[in-house]
Amino acid sequence: MRRKLVAGNWKMNGSLSANGGLLADILAGLGDVTCEVVACPPFPYLAQAQAMLSASPVGLGAQTLSEHPAGAFTGEVGAEMLREFGCRYVLVGHSERRSLFGESDAVVAAKLAAALAVGLVPVLCLGETLAEREAGQTEAVVSRQLQAVLDRVGVAALSGGVLAYEPVWAIGTGLTATPAQAQAVHAHIRACLAAHDAAVAAEVRILYGGSVKPQNAQELFGQQDIDGGLIGGASLVAEDFLAICRAAN
Ligand code: 13P
Repeated sequence: MRRKLVAGNWKMNGSLSANGGLLADILAGLGDVTCEVVACPPFPYLAQAQAMLSASPVGLGAQTLSEHPAGAFTGEVGAEMLREFGCRYVLVGHSERRSLFGESDAVVAAKLAAALAVGLVPVLCLGETLAEREAGQTEAVVSRQLQAVLDRVGVAALSGGVLAYEPVWAIGTGLTATPAQAQAVHAHIRACLAAHDAAVAAEVRILYGGSVKPQNAQELFGQQDIDGGLIGGASLVAEDFLAICRAAN
């Protein structure tokens, strides 16, 4: 039985005062939430979030990391630094990193390996663009993105891991994949894993991301292979984020 997970990806949003209020409101509203909950603030706020969350059931994650452990890489943040600030999770290969910051499948795989090397749990993001979906390439694209990682670290390294299917056309657009569309891709991703290792495939959690809202969360999370959500915009509003978490109960 896979425990559901709902993670908030704050992207480049927030401030000390806004985060303080948001986290306090989330913590105050957790009473009837049974799924695992994670917040992924921007790097400068990790210390603030660590201080507020360390005694709580809410986990901490970062939004990306360097593929290098340390050294002359101006502006980068290494995996060990994230661990030191209490991160358990780190997003890897979010579509915004891939499309806006040129992260190739190979770079994403290297980052995932860097996360694993220090015991962080990578949340590997996969997803197709609208053009790719319309060209009938959805399964081929997510298979290719996943295979790059499997080639690098092997399937056993994903044991207990987390993937996120985020169709690029559904991110921040208000367009959500229908539960059936999402379920089909999640099942495909799980089948790809199962072709390598059925036990790993059965335990890996696959989150859905892309315009998840309180109104659509329950039906999405009710699909057989959808194990929770990776939430962007709605994770910045405590009431909405909590409602999405409750939908995963
Ligand atoms: P939205 O929920 O704002 O569509 O963002 C999804 C996302 O990219 C989460 O990583």
